[in-house]
Amino acid sequence: MDTWRTHMPPGLFLKSEPYGSWISSMTPGYDIKTWSRLHGYDDYVDRVGPLPLDRFLGYTEWFVDNLVPGIQDLTVTSVVPGGDGFKVEFAEESPIFARQVIVATGLLPFKNVPPQLSGLPADLMTHTSAYGPLDKFHGRRVAVIGGGQSALQTAALLHELGADVRVIVRKEQLAWGSPIAAEANLLHRMLRPEAKLCEGWGCWFHDTPRAFRMMPESLRVKKALTSFGPAGAWWLRDRVEGVIELLMGYSIKKAEPHGSGVRLHLGGAKESTIDVDHVIAGTGFRIDVSRIPFLAEEIKSSLVTRANCPLVNRTGESSVRGLYFAGAPTMVSLGSGVRFISGTHGSSGTLATSVARGARRGAQQTAPAAPAQQQQQQTLASTGPLPLS
Ligand SMILES: Cc1cc2nc3c(=O)[nH]c(=O)nc-3n(C[C@H](O)[C@H](O)[C@H](O)COP(=O)(O)OP(=O)(O)OC[C@H]3O[C@@H](n4cnc5c(N)ncnc54)[C@H](O)[C@@H]3O)c2cc1C
Repeated sequence: MDTWRTHMPPGLFLKSEPYGSWISSMTPGYDIKTWSRLHGYDDYVDRVGPLPLDRFLGYTEWFVDNLVPGIQDLTVTSVVPGGDGFKVEFAEESPIFARQVIVATGLLPFKNVPPQLSGLPADLMTHTSAYGPLDKFHGRRVAVIGGGQSALQTAALLHELGADVRVIVRKEQLAWGSPIAAEANLLHRMLRPEAKLCEGWGCWFHDTPRAFRMMPESLRVKKALTSFGPAGAWWLRDRVEGVIELLMGYSIKKAEPHGSGVRLHLGGAKESTIDVDHVIAGTGFRIDVSRIPFLAEEIKSSLVTRANCPLVNRTGESSVRGLYFAGAPTMVSLGSGVRFISGTHGSSGTLATSVARGARRGAQQTAPAAPAQQQQQQTLASTGPLPLS
């Protein structure tokens, strides 16, 4: 949960509705509604209620304690072909061998910073995913670049913490989501089925890998890259419009250190420059499997990709046998829903079943090994040989 614990600012609300913000599990009863009831949060609502970050973190701690205890917090530094599958190296511990590996490293390896900003030093420019608490910006001039939820929510929090914020957006108008209906009766559910991610038949398609996979590949690529584009959540609008200075229709032409801060040269309706103390790039993420730092080059070059995403089968297994992907990198194969928590409901069970089946096969094939190594191999659910052609 490091992404949520250390890369999100306190005070953040989830964009997804509460009913779409719980993690899939094969054991029923580990949803956020149950957690809220057990922990005395009587104000919990399934629909039309933004979920605060601290509650989501409380829920995930409970989920982990009960369903996935004993997680070791280690940093993977390399995954290379080795043994009957992969050798996995860590920053903190000795390497292990595994026949199966699941890469589920989320969005953070793919943060996108426009080239105009990337040359600025880290004390003058950061990406929204760098935070954590934003208090240090109290009383400072901050430019937030971007018009999506990360940029707009960061800007609102900065403003509320007493920063002097300007938001710079390329488009002429911001896109905002609309609240869903507070109650969903049978007719509503027939017309606009709940897909956890959102509602409606189109949404259901993106959130159901089996349905998404029926589309031709070219359409899947297009949908994966374009659906759920940048937009602010409906509940954020009042905290931004008319409250924060919005520079709409402007792009960054150049950014340079100036005094103790940054001078931004803007192109747009009329060219201008602004001076700020710090720039925060709310410019999102661009999935590109070649940017996963720990995967060996020979593994990357064996992956079949489309739009820089590894192609995976229904279970999440890539063209490299035993190498699975979960979450955002699988969006071209399994639908845009996999970028969100709700996506776990359509994909994790299938992935887990496949890996467990492979582990059983592997265990049958494996002659008794040295106890410590065998235990580690089994923890990672090993299976047959790895062709890396
Ligand atoms: C600002 C922001 C807001 C979001 N809001 C929502 C929302 O409201 N609703 C929603 O559904 N989704 C939201 N998302 C998307 C969200 O990231 C995903 O839904 C969810 O966290 C994806 O889960 P994941 O397990 O794939 O990735 P993550 O939750 O990002 O988990 C990836 C994990 O991999 C670990 N990791 C990475 N590299 C290594 C390594 N080398 N070695 C060991 N571990 C590593 C990380 O530390 C982390 O623990 C948001 C994303 C961002 C950035």
